[in-house]
Amino acid sequence: MDDNEELYEGEGEDLEPISSYMNKRTQYRKISLYLKNQFNMKGPEVQEHINQKFPDLTGEHMKKQIAWSWSRLDCFEQCPRKFQGTYVTKEFPSPDFDAPHFAKGKAAHFMMEEHFKAGSTTPLHGSVFSVRNAKGRIYYTFKVNGPYEDEFKFDFRFLTDFCNKIKKSKKVMPELQVTFDVRMNEISWFDKSAWCRVILDLIIIIDDFALILDWKTGKVKRYSDQLKLFAGAVMTKYPQVKRVLSAYIWLDHPSQAPIYAEYTSNDKEDIWLEFGDRAELIQLANESGNWPAKKNMFCKWCDALPSMCEFKPL
Ligand code: SF4
Repeated sequence: MDDNEELYEGEGEDLEPISSYMNKRTQYRKISLYLKNQFNMKGPEVQEHINQKFPDLTGEHMKKQIAWSWSRLDCFEQCPRKFQGTYVTKEFPSPDFDAPHFAKGKAAHFMMEEHFKAGSTTPLHGSVFSVRNAKGRIYYTFKVNGPYEDEFKFDFRFLTDFCNKIKKSKKVMPELQVTFDVRMNEISWFDKSAWCRVILDLIIIIDDFALILDWKTGKVKRYSDQLKLFAGAVMTKYPQVKRVLSAYIWLDHPSQAPIYAEYTSNDKEDIWLEFGDRAELIQLANESGNWPAKKNMFCKWCDALPSMCEFKPL
């Protein structure tokens, strides 16, 4: 018996939720996932089924949820108080998005988006990209000095291989935004019932295979489960995709090989169960109003003022 089956007594039409320890939204989410995966139900069918069978799961609590993304979840797991000050009360000062490290990341994303939007697989040799802020001022200019071979010495064959596949693929999508509600239906980015939001820097779909590339600037970090969330989002948005390779491309580090992870459709349900349970802690913190400060190695760079958190260094 797996985790999902533990939610029920009986089978098929007689399914009943038996869990008393999970809150209602968690039950709702897990039942939705189970019905979709095991009974191949679509969004409206799932909703109708739950409305009929479990009416106590569709009440007010569904309206109070906070939408999450990988970076929000990462922030919450690092420090709930930081999440509260940044996204809930918004009392923490906003970071300076014109600061060099933000600007460089934005410029690199802009450059790669423009490049792939044009359907180009030619080198970016000599190209100059400028990024403007909201007031229209150019605040970062990014010049690509060499051909790709100079930029991506780490494993140029890796990129060449996939660039060649891009030519054959009809689905090459830079900067794709994906939003799901708690029933795992895809909805628009700003929909009020948003539960999870994911941005994919570049996705290439070739038949039942998808490649997801995520551009990274700055220091090389250890493997992150963000790649796993990317895979879950793509396999949910595109059910025909059965295998995903998701990778970080380190634009600042020519000798650094991409960090990548591979998933199949067999992993999809587990991915959502894992992230769903982790994200549920954000909802529980919100419902209880309990956002404890968790001292950590990033406190020095936190946007909190010393008056807002006892752990913020003076
Ligand atoms: S200073 Fe540290 S403990 Fe305080 S809110 Fe920021 S991250 Fe959390």
